[in-house]
Amino acid sequence: MGKITIAIDGYSSTGKSTIAKRLASTLNYIYVDTGAMYRAVTFFALQEGIINDRGEVDEATLIDKLSEVHLKFVSNKETGRSDMFLNDENVEKEIRTMQVSGFVSKVAAIKEVREKLVKIQQEMGKDKGIVMDGRDIGTVVFPDAELKLFMTASPETRAARRYKELLEKGEEVTYAEVLKNVEERDRIDSTRTISPLTKAKDAIEFDNSDMGLEEQFERIHDFSQRVIERVN
Ligand code: C5P
Repeated sequence: MGKITIAIDGYSSTGKSTIAKRLASTLNYIYVDTGAMYRAVTFFALQEGIINDRGEVDEATLIDKLSEVHLKFVSNKETGRSDMFLNDENVEKEIRTMQVSGFVSKVAAIKEVREKLVKIQQEMGKDKGIVMDGRDIGTVVFPDAELKLFMTASPETRAARRYKELLEKGEEVTYAEVLKNVEERDRIDSTRTISPLTKAKDAIEFDNSDMGLEEQFERIHDFSQRVIERVN
C-alpha cells in the first residue's frame, strides 16, 4: 500500500503532537515533532550564552555557530517515543521548559535556522510514510502533502492543557504565565516574515476546543484512511 505524507500545523498546544504520534503509530508511519528541533536550537543558544539577560538573541553569532548544531531523534524504549538529541546529548527534558518556550519563537524566526531545519525535515520525509507536526509543514516543508490538517483551539483551552502538562512535569509555573507565553508565541509565529504560521489553502481546519481526544483521533484517522484509499 502506497504511503502518504501527513502535515499537521497549528497554534501552540493544540494537541498536535498527541494526535500526530498516535496517528503515526496506528499507520506504522514515522512521527517527527519539528517543534523539538526549534527548541533544541534554542537550548543550544542558551547554553552558548547567545541569548543575553535581556532576552535578546545574538543572531549573527547563532548563525555562525549553526554548523555546530547536530540534531537527531533517538527512539526511547521505555517511553516508546523519540527523544531529541543535541550533539549526542539527550535534551528531551531540557527543551520542554518555560525558559526555552520563552525564546523559541525568536530563534524560529531566523531565516538561516529555518533553512537548516527545513532541509533536514524534507530529507526525513522524502520516502513519505510520515506524520510531521509544526507550523509550516503544509505550507513550506511539504506543500504537496496528501493530507494537511490545521489545528486550532481557544488560547484559554490551550493554556489550560499546557499548564496541566507542565505541573505534571514538576515545573513551577502559573496559569497566567502559560497563557501569556502561548499568546506571545502565536503572535510571533503568525507575524514573522519567513514562513509564518498560516493555514495552507488545502488544509482541513480542526477546532478541538470542545472535543475529546478520542473523537479527535477517530475523525483524523478517518480522514487519513480516506486519503490513503484514494491514492492507492
Ligand atoms: O510545537 P512546539 O510548540 O513545541 O514549537 C515550539 C516553537 O517552535 C513554536 O512556537 C514556533 O516558534 C517554532 N516552530 C516553528 N516551525 C515549526 C515548528 C515549531 O517555527 N515547524
